[in-house]
Amino acid sequence: KEFGEISLKDIDQVARSSFPLCMRHLFDSLRDDHHLKHGGRMQLGLFLKGVGLKLDDALAFWKAEFSQKVGAERFDKEYAYGIRHNFGKEGKRTDYTPFSCQKIILSTPGVGDHHGCPYRHFSEENLRAALGKMGVSSRELEQVVDKAKGRHYQLACTLTFEAIHGASCDTGINHPNQYFKASQNILKE
Ligand code: SF4
Repeated sequence: KEFGEISLKDIDQVARSSFPLCMRHLFDSLRDDHHLKHGGRMQLGLFLKGVGLKLDDALAFWKAEFSQKVGAERFDKEYAYGIRHNFGKEGKRTDYTPFSCQKIILSTPGVGDHHGCPYRHFSEENLRAALGKMGVSSRELEQVVDKAKGRHYQLACTLTFEAIHGASCDTGINHPNQYFKASQNILKE
């Protein structure tokens, strides 16, 4: 396995240890609902491509979930295209880049959508619950919630990173894939 590739068997563990909250929320929602709407499929799909999930593994990953909801046949007909498209294998063959924090923060998730930045788009109650699940202690949790309320979303994410990893992140978080890499670097030390 090449450096920076993740395999399907590791994905749940890696999601727990190294995904930022936005991706963790999409990942968990997909595992729970076996479905994600278009905005979520784009945001999570491109992130997973960025962390090194190969096209074949990506197709297997999405199919395993969506099949439980819509059936394998409908997945192949309606959803596989979008995944290949993310990898530049369909349509204009653009190799799409994973979304930055700025782009995610400025997105406008509607009812039933799970994409977006939780520090901006979650209610305070949901944010608190999500941070607790991430393992942020109560004192640090208050600081994160304060930053989010003050609209410093990326700073809130940086504080979460530091709380979970017990290490500082001097550059601050500006991209979900940067969060992932920084986390993996610390965990592999
Ligand atoms: Fe994701 Fe960026 Fe928001 Fe963190 S600040 S949750 S990485 S969009």
